[in-house]
Amino acid sequence: ESPPVMLDYVSLEADLDQEERMIRDTAREFVDEHVKPDIGDNFEEGTFPTELIPKMGELGFYAPNLEGYGSPNVSETAYGLLMQELEAGDSGFRSMVSVQGALVMYPIHAYGSEEQKTEWLPKLGQGEAVGCFGLTEPEHGSNPSAMNTSAERDGNDYVLNGSKTWITNSPISDVAIVWARDRSVDDQPVRGFLVETDRDGVTTNKITDKISLRASITGEIGLNDVIVPEENVLPGVTGMKGPLSCLTQARYGIAWGAVGAARDCFEQARQYALDRDQFGGPIARFQLQQEKLAEMATQITLGQLLVYRLADLKERGDLRPQHVSMAKRNNVRMARDQARVAREIIGGNGITTDYSPMRHMANMETVYTYEGTHDIHTLILGEDLTGIPAYQ
Ligand code: FAD
Repeated sequence: ESPPVMLDYVSLEADLDQEERMIRDTAREFVDEHVKPDIGDNFEEGTFPTELIPKMGELGFYAPNLEGYGSPNVSETAYGLLMQELEAGDSGFRSMVSVQGALVMYPIHAYGSEEQKTEWLPKLGQGEAVGCFGLTEPEHGSNPSAMNTSAERDGNDYVLNGSKTWITNSPISDVAIVWARDRSVDDQPVRGFLVETDRDGVTTNKITDKISLRASITGEIGLNDVIVPEENVLPGVTGMKGPLSCLTQARYGIAWGAVGAARDCFEQARQYALDRDQFGGPIARFQLQQEKLAEMATQITLGQLLVYRLADLKERGDLRPQHVSMAKRNNVRMARDQARVAREIIGGNGITTDYSPMRHMANMETVYTYEGTHDIHTLILGEDLTGIPAYQ
């Protein structure tokens, strides 16, 4: 009997309910029909097919794990499977969907006013509007709490100044969630502001020349005396808890997504090993190649087990950010390592965009670094395990 094509070695998918299967299948079909045919070209050209943004909304890809305002409140496993399937296509798609859902819709849902929710959640959910999340600054990456972007109160308005960089989707966004220090309050707490990108003083230059996550649009957010009314402040949260709680949501999806990228690499490498003949037969008959496939399948399976467990913890409200750090850290490193092994099995052909592993490998350099670098997640775990913070 030949091995399963969709690597699910310990039959985790046997326990999925009907809705979870449906979401998995919808995402798989979307990736087969709309992502895989052109992703090599998108990657080479550095483009993202923006025409698919409303299509993904129609299919319910943006924050389906939220409840109300058009979101169906699907299980955390279903949400994870969606991320897994999208990232099996490309990290650029998963990034688009993660930002829109976990970093823009989630904070509006969790901390927004009723007016903000009714105005933005349905539009964002349908992909009729695009959002971005502005936390990172040119001088403040791993330590965003040192941010300089400021909000000064002026009557019933705030005036925003500062710059954000490395912002996924900023050049195509209608609205940005900008995290800034409120200078009008003594301890200058971080607050979240909904900034429509057509406001005077907002610029969203695109970052070009990326050689990772090429099929994703990345940019800056420049804020030059941008006036926003106080109704645009997210009323429900103050301090770094705001952005950090959003990142926990997104990182949960990344931990699932990385498994998808690794699985796609495995599938391509396994098939290639069976099809490619050298020395009078398929390279899959060589023990050296079998060892690579065995290790890859094992590492992917271990990563899957971790995220399925996280889904259960999240469902019952017992998921801690540190659990998410462990899974993001492990699964992204795993995908980065295994993409390289898969590329190796595919030989010279493996360095082209005709096969996915090299593209996934390049993408994983971004995924390893954004949403908390690998090092930062190591420190989060270190602190959790010892009680001693080692960031400074
Ligand atoms: P730095 O913080 O300067 O880190 C450089 C190196 O130093 C890293 O290896 C890091 O691990 C290490 N380091 C830092 N501090 C420590 C320490 N205390 N101990 C040990 N080592 C340390 N940000 C957003 O806000 N929104 C987005 O949508 C977004 N999208 C992105 C898309 C892409 C393609 C990329 C590349 C980045 C994106 N980011 C986004 C930014 C991303 O989150 C940051 O790049 C990340 O937080 C790291 O910051 P940095 O690049 O400034 O690196």
